[in-house]
Amino acid sequence: MTDFNNELMISTELLKSIPMEAQITRIEYEGPTLAIYTRNPLIFFESPSLISSLATKFKRRFVIRSEPRIRKDPHEARHIIENIFKAEDIPRERYRMFFDESRGEVIIFISQYLTNDLRHRITTAIVKETAWIPVFRWYFKEVPKVFSRIYYKPKSKREPLRFLSAVGNRVFRPSINPSKAIRITALGGAEEVGRSATLISTTESKILIDFGLKVNVESREAAYPRIDLLDTDINEIDAVIVTHAHLDHSGLIPFLYKHGYRGPVYMTEPTLPLSILLQEDLINLSKKGSGASPYNEQDIHNMIRHTITLKYNQVTDISPDIKLTFFNAGHILGSAMVHLHITEGVYNILLTGDFKFGQTRLLDPAKSDFTRAETLVMESTYGGRYDILPPRKDVEALFSLVVRKTLERGGKALIPVPGVGRAQEILAVIYHLTRKDTPEEMKLPEVPVYIDGMIDEANKIHGVYLEYLKSGIRNEFRESGENPFNTEYLVPVDTSSTRDEIIQDPSPSIILSTSGMMQGGPVIEYFKAFAGEEKHSLIFVTYQVPDTLGRKIVDGMKQVDFMEDGRLRTININMEVHKIDGFTGHSDRKQLLGYVSRLKKLLRSVYIVHGEPEKIINLSDTIEKFFKVPTHKLPLYNTILLK
Ligand SMILES: [Zn+2]
Repeated sequence: MTDFNNELMISTELLKSIPMEAQITRIEYEGPTLAIYTRNPLIFFESPSLISSLATKFKRRFVIRSEPRIRKDPHEARHIIENIFKAEDIPRERYRMFFDESRGEVIIFISQYLTNDLRHRITTAIVKETAWIPVFRWYFKEVPKVFSRIYYKPKSKREPLRFLSAVGNRVFRPSINPSKAIRITALGGAEEVGRSATLISTTESKILIDFGLKVNVESREAAYPRIDLLDTDINEIDAVIVTHAHLDHSGLIPFLYKHGYRGPVYMTEPTLPLSILLQEDLINLSKKGSGASPYNEQDIHNMIRHTITLKYNQVTDISPDIKLTFFNAGHILGSAMVHLHITEGVYNILLTGDFKFGQTRLLDPAKSDFTRAETLVMESTYGGRYDILPPRKDVEALFSLVVRKTLERGGKALIPVPGVGRAQEILAVIYHLTRKDTPEEMKLPEVPVYIDGMIDEANKIHGVYLEYLKSGIRNEFRESGENPFNTEYLVPVDTSSTRDEIIQDPSPSIILSTSGMMQGGPVIEYFKAFAGEEKHSLIFVTYQVPDTLGRKIVDGMKQVDFMEDGRLRTININMEVHKIDGFTGHSDRKQLLGYVSRLKKLLRSVYIVHGEPEKIINLSDTIEKFFKVPTHKLPLYNTILLK
């Protein structure tokens, strides 16, 4: 078999494999991908198998770029594209365009479902008439604002490509020290929940997985991963990988750029906009409170400039000896398990990140059929001996009962939720509980459902990445006008005067509001207004971290003091307080054990992270006993030799 490691050889062989009329002008690294520049891009869209056969032959990813000289000026291209849509009877208000001038792509957000035929016809027309390459994204209501930050206008057209070409050169550099030793170091998020950060190092490369923030702790030493303990220059890191957008995993990525990191960060497509949303919220919360933010908007922008997004199941070279593949983790939109294939497959590590090995309304269960995984690094948030959650059906029935009773007595159901993940899951549950086919005894009446905080923006981001949701939901979005995030009774709250109106309005309603643990956010305003009256309910649907206001209320607190304009105001809690377990996006103990059981034949070792210390020990013991696989905690700040 020919070895195509030599890039020069790839170029020569590649040219031989492509028909002459493609008029290839050059082949360049674009991060882990090879970009083929052509004066005849249309040929690749007319025969799409050309690219896939190249990928199979050369075991590389290819992308087609039109030669910049032949592209129409963006203004002119915009005009032409508008006419193409007009000819297909697609009205102007149903789509929006962003021009990525460095890549020659036009990103088209469209709120109308296109059949494959129609999409193909529009694509070839655009390529033929403008030499811009269209990338389609679906949206409902409006394009999320965050995309104007992602599709920013670079200072020079070459800037993004220069970065990507440098990444490519580094990824495909020749191996100089191919020893087979592999080490793993927990910098945070081991023996605890929060500030996840794990370093994998070989003699050839260093890979950092997640760099999260532990919220709700004062000292920086406890809140940040301890990268200072490594005697490593930050730019010796080859790649940073983000498993998902939650701040305890992505929250300090911009901080790395603030401190001089200039390498790539890999994440799935939805993780980028969701991370930006949460990171910007963190900055805003710090501005309102007294605490200084760990970074500013410019640092987030630097992260965006260095981000390479990947899809699930896409094998990607990220250093000379490591290939990365993301797999569905079932935790939140875009959440990924990280599979690392090291030194030509000598060793494979699977890091679960936060994962759900079970059904939810929005997502499929985490992937579990792997062919290689010698080491498993697994989270254990619900890994304790008693962390067995009730079946989802029962959880939804209980939720329905509590909400229905509240509404029937004229009360409001106030549900504190984190803006990304659980909010959308609860909305999907409410959507299903109001549908015609729901059994009478579970049905919720159609009352207004108010959403406050960043929930609406996160909903819209979900609409853009339907291919990451489970298939049933995907079709609902595309084919009917209605979906869990777009119904007539769903009302986003965007001003404080609307908030006041909702509070004054005596009629029953459901309110979802951030923050999920009542550490600030608009939920506090609703709470102050409703706490005194028995007819209302406060319904917790997420884990409450010790010492948060949410946790104190769950534990039975009856009075809360708030400072208002320098005065102390005491609020008595007379409203009903409920905590409903079982909506979690994490695997419970049974699911964790079930997961290891699926993989046990492949495994040589298991390391348990992301849990309370006693739960980690108990889960490790159980796994070792049942499955006879050596299982340990990953000790914080220590380095373990895996191989
Ligand atoms: Zn998470």
